Amino acid sequence: MDDIQDENAPTSLETVERAMDKAAALAGRENENISLIAISKTRMAEEILPLLGEGHRLFGENRVQEAAEKWPELRAEYSDIELHMVGQLQSNKADEAIALFDVIHSVDRPSLVKALGKAMQKANRSVPCFIQINIGEEEQKGGCGIADLPGLLTLCEKHGVPVQGLMCVPPLDLEPSPYFALLAQKAKVHGLPLLSMGMSADFEAAVKIGATHIRVGSALFGARN
Ligand SMILES: *Cc1c(COP(=O)(O)O)cnc(C)c1O
Repeated sequence: MDDIQDENAPTSLETVERAMDKAAALAGRENENISLIAISKTRMAEEILPLLGEGHRLFGENRVQEAAEKWPELRAEYSDIELHMVGQLQSNKADEAIALFDVIHSVDRPSLVKALGKAMQKANRSVPCFIQINIGEEEQKGGCGIADLPGLLTLCEKHGVPVQGLMCVPPLDLEPSPYFALLAQKAKVHGLPLLSMGMSADFEAAVKIGATHIRVGSALFGARN
């Protein structure tokens, strides 16, 4: 790619925000009820700084170790950053995750619920969580089975893990809207107000179906290697 750039061309952040606004308007939703999480996994600080410069403060990572290496320094400079964990979480990283992240999207099994409950109590810090649902019932994929959701919610209550919503990653290469609609329905049944769904390829569809948090990486930062 060459370097010639139109100074008036919108930045990728502006482009994504406009698309979000348009999808929200079509669905008759208020755009302030929808949060854009910039998924910065695999991106270096140099790639993240332009977004911070544009005023964006909400970011997501999928690995504890990578987040621990990148974000303390950026946070020292921008104290109002909000960092979300969107990747699979090992129970033995619960303490570190509770110290690093402001929200966790990937609570999906009893052992993790117990570890997070303990970690929050130890740190005296309450971190809002989403339960990740394996919405396509895919064998290889993380997430709680749809049938296991009621039991996991009960366990979260017992262990003091505050659940505010549901999260999913629908099956690749299938029309995502039916899966988003199913997630929205499950959240409604359980009285959970938040929905983390929609990525670069499908966030507009997710917004139309009620996403409160969309997780967008490549549309903001370019393709990952
Ligand atoms: C990487 C990732 C995203 C962002 O994916 P893009 O297609 O780059 O927008 C969203 N959610 C999760 C859980 C991810 O791991």
